[in-house]
Amino acid sequence: MTAGGPVLTFHGVRGSTPCDGHQYSRYGGSTSAVALECPGHAPVIFDLGTGVRAYGDEVTAKLVADMQANRAATPYTANVLLTHLHWDHIIGMPFFTPAFRPDANINVYGPRQLEGPLGDVFAQVMRPPFFPITPDQLGGDVRFQEVGDDAYALNGAKVLSRWVRHTDPALGFRVELEGRSVTYISDHGPGCITDDPDDYVPPGVLELCDGVDVLIHDAQHTLDEYEAKRHFGHSSIEYAVHVGKESGIRNLVLFHHCPTHSDDDIDRILQHAQDVSDKVNGPRIIAAHEGLRINLDHV
Ligand SMILES: [Zn+2]
Ligand SMILES: [Zn+2]
Repeated sequence: MTAGGPVLTFHGVRGSTPCDGHQYSRYGGSTSAVALECPGHAPVIFDLGTGVRAYGDEVTAKLVADMQANRAATPYTANVLLTHLHWDHIIGMPFFTPAFRPDANINVYGPRQLEGPLGDVFAQVMRPPFFPITPDQLGGDVRFQEVGDDAYALNGAKVLSRWVRHTDPALGFRVELEGRSVTYISDHGPGCITDDPDDYVPPGVLELCDGVDVLIHDAQHTLDEYEAKRHFGHSSIEYAVHVGKESGIRNLVLFHHCPTHSDDDIDRILQHAQDVSDKVNGPRIIAAHEGLRINLDHV
C-alpha cells in the first residue's frame, strides 16, 4: 500500500447548473468535479464541471511552488474520466489552468458519440461564438479518447467504463488503485428507459459497483420529485440507496444535488437516505459537499 493512500476530493457536487447563494454555502454550488489523487500516480479527475476551476488553481499553485523550490520539473499529466457532454460536466474545462501549461498532458476519456469523434463533438461546444477558444488553443496537449463498455489501464489505475441510462450517451466509471476502489455514476436515471421496472439495476451498473469501497451516485430527486421528473434522467434518493444495497457496498456518497435543494434540504435528504438504508441494512450514507475528502484507506 502506498503511504497516504488514494484520496478523493470533491470540488463540485451540484447537478444541472452552477448555483450561488447563502442557501448553498455548506454543500456548495459548483458542478460535478471530483479528483482521485495518490502519491506516485497521475491524478484521475471525474468530470469537468465548474468545480474543476478551483482545483486547477490549487494544482497550478503547487506546480509553481515546486518550480520555485527548484524541485525537478516533471510534465503535468492528468487523466479525465468524462461521463458525458452535458454543460454541467464540461464547462469548467476552459478554466482548468493546468491545461494552459505547455508541458501539460490532459487525457480525456469520454463517451463515444454518434455525431462524430469525441474531440470534434466537444470542440463544437467549445469554440467561437460559444466560447473564444477551442480545446486546441488551451496551450497544453489535450487528447480525447473515446470509450464505451471498456476496461483499460491509466498510470497504474485500472478503469472500467460502462454505459448507464441517461438522456444522452453517458458512462459510469470504476477505478481501482493501490488495492482500493471507487465508482462514479454522476448522472443515472432509471426513468429514461420506460420499460425498466423502477427497482431494476442493469448488469453494467452492478459490474461497476460490485463491492466497491466508495460509490458516488446520482441522488438528484426526492421520490415525489422523481415521479414528476423521471424523464430528466436522474435518480431518486431511494434508487441510489437501492443500487448501493444491491451492490453490497459499505459507503454511498449522494451526489449531483438538485439546484432547487438548499443546504437544509440536503440535511433532511441525508437523514432520510440513512433511514431508508438502515431499514434494509444498506450502506453508510454521506452527502457530498465541496471540500469533502475521503481517504480510501480509511473507509
Ligand atoms: Zn449532470
Ligand atoms: Zn446529464
